[in-house]
Amino acid sequence: MADNKVDIKFGYLCNNKCRFCVQGNKRIKYGNLEKEEIIKKLEDGKKFSDCIVFTGGEVTIRDDFLDLLLIAKKLDYAKIQIQTNGRMFSNMSFCEKTVQNGANDFSLALHGHIPQLHDYLTSAEGSFYQTVKGIKNLKFLNQFVGTNTVITRSNYRNLPDIAALLVYLNVDQYQLAFVHPVGTAMEFFDSIVPRLSLTEQYVKDALTAGIKAGKTVMTEGIPFCFMEGFTGYIAESIMPEMKIFDVNVCDDYREYRIKEGKAKDKKCGLCRYDKQCEGTWREYPEKYGWDEFIPVK
Ligand code: SF4
Repeated sequence: MADNKVDIKFGYLCNNKCRFCVQGNKRIKYGNLEKEEIIKKLEDGKKFSDCIVFTGGEVTIRDDFLDLLLIAKKLDYAKIQIQTNGRMFSNMSFCEKTVQNGANDFSLALHGHIPQLHDYLTSAEGSFYQTVKGIKNLKFLNQFVGTNTVITRSNYRNLPDIAALLVYLNVDQYQLAFVHPVGTAMEFFDSIVPRLSLTEQYVKDALTAGIKAGKTVMTEGIPFCFMEGFTGYIAESIMPEMKIFDVNVCDDYREYRIKEGKAKDKKCGLCRYDKQCEGTWREYPEKYGWDEFIPVK
């Protein structure tokens, strides 16, 4: 029970409108879950794990966010992680209440090193300054702060700059996640999804900055053949077992990813990483083909 976790999606409403959002039109179709539905999921999740992840949408903009946190605390979850765009944490009093009510692990989304880049990707003016302030506030309160950066065509050349900012902000951990081409990211594929081969050196330079600074760093959605020399930092290989409470319950996220989300080519059978590697998001080769994927001898 110690290593697995439960991920509860509280709904899809959000105060950002990210250009690469995987949820797409779910915010219109499903909105947010009712409080009672979430309480039931919190109770069910406790049978599976001591670690709960609050995610959305954006959980912190719910009026009942602090109440639900307190309920999770009373259910005795050992770890309560908040996945967030971080904007609400620019308010120190809100940070303090969140910590008092039981949250003890934070994952914030930062997609640029300057406002022009981050705010462009989130379509929310002022979001860069709010998220950066949120990171500073939570670190000031001695919280564990990780970040997630989605790799897109707009920001991949700046990944080392983003890493430098994250090291400066003293985050505990950062992840670089290759954009999953579904939802809005699929709708605007050509302007959002970069070639994996073009991102490779920038990803490695960004990881190196964190490694040198003693940070925990990782990537998501990047196959082994683009990670030579850095294969120990592939999150899919080190992620815990995870149950997801979305609109439908997903009992095993890893199995779901491999069966439904990812794809491999016939030539992958020749690759030394074939057994460990999940492949790439299946929409990627449907658009770009398999030429960039070169089996590692
Ligand atoms: S198995 Fe295929 S996708 Fe994975 S690293 Fe090897 S060539 Fe790349």
